[in-house]
Amino acid sequence: VLHNTIQELKGNIRVFCRVRPRTLKEIEQTKPLCNINFIDDCTIEVSKSDGSDAIGSCSRKLRGIKQEFSFDKVFTPNASQADVFEELSLLVQSALEGYNVCVFAYGQTGSGKTYTMEGECGLQTEGMIPRTVRHIFKEMKQFELLGWEYHIEASFLEIYNEHIVDLLDSQSKTHEIRMVDNKSQDLYVSNLRVEEIHSPEELHKCLQTAQRNRAVAATQSNERSSRSHSVTRIRLIGTHTIKQEISIGNLNLVDLAGSERLKTEEAVRTTETKNINKSLANLGNVILALLKKQEHIPYRNSKLTHLLMPSLGGNSKTLMLLNISPLDECYNETLNSLRFASNVN
Ligand code: ADP
Ligand code: MG
Repeated sequence: VLHNTIQELKGNIRVFCRVRPRTLKEIEQTKPLCNINFIDDCTIEVSKSDGSDAIGSCSRKLRGIKQEFSFDKVFTPNASQADVFEELSLLVQSALEGYNVCVFAYGQTGSGKTYTMEGECGLQTEGMIPRTVRHIFKEMKQFELLGWEYHIEASFLEIYNEHIVDLLDSQSKTHEIRMVDNKSQDLYVSNLRVEEIHSPEELHKCLQTAQRNRAVAATQSNERSSRSHSVTRIRLIGTHTIKQEISIGNLNLVDLAGSERLKTEEAVRTTETKNINKSLANLGNVILALLKKQEHIPYRNSKLTHLLMPSLGGNSKTLMLLNISPLDECYNETLNSLRFASNVN
């Protein structure tokens, strides 16, 4: 009973934590790991590794202190992409049923956000976005048997320094992309390319274009890839001619900017870095306000939450995928991430 009550209180916001394995390079470099104990499916206990004076930037007082954090689910470094997607696949079904869904990958740079969301080439290692695409078309067949017909639209964008960049249209820099609030639930984004999608292949092609444009942008501006939010939006419009019903669901898959605190010399450099930290903090504030059922939700304080406004709160489901690096040198940021996520959990 207690469990049910907690679920109800929490509404439709879930947090999963994924600890990545050490990469081959890190193994070669024999980088020390911090201590992470997987207590059960939902709980981890972390502490700074002992003899780590040489590499860790952790203060002396943190050493040896064990801290425990609980989430809706914890994935060990052995968890496969398929294991993570199994938990996510129900959300795809919800979107086909007309729910708005947001999936966020949160964590410091190098913690595995892009691996989780995009993955790598090959069926085993492909990430949540390509799996979602495949699953949509598979599930859609079931709904079609029940008389539903779907129209699919997709857009791909990046938010960098509070500017929206269209990842399907690398030429579009001359038109400013604006968000227009209108009376209906929907938020209109002007000048953003929206592709009609008829097959998984078409969606995959768009995804590749978006990834290519993102890579180009990243090389033009130093560190851009770690400082920008990348958003894949898929809109599923279902119509049932016999029942005369319509269902509109939106899936937003977001690879967030790195959550790391910036070093002081970086922090003074530009307002850009301030904007980025502000927009992540605001995402946390929006989720907290939703959890507390506050009257005022500060959606408009950042581009990311403004854009996702129709898909956060109300008739929507949100999943935060918290990515954690196992390295001891990342321990401070690991703690920051765990604290951030357990606040919204
Ligand atoms: P981020 O996007 O958070 O900066 P990446 O996704 O680029 O981090 O991951 C950093 C490195 O760790 C990459 O080399 C990636 O291939 C590897 N990696 C991340 N997660 C996993 C995982 N679950 N299994 C294997 N390798 C991973
Ligand atoms: Mg990344």
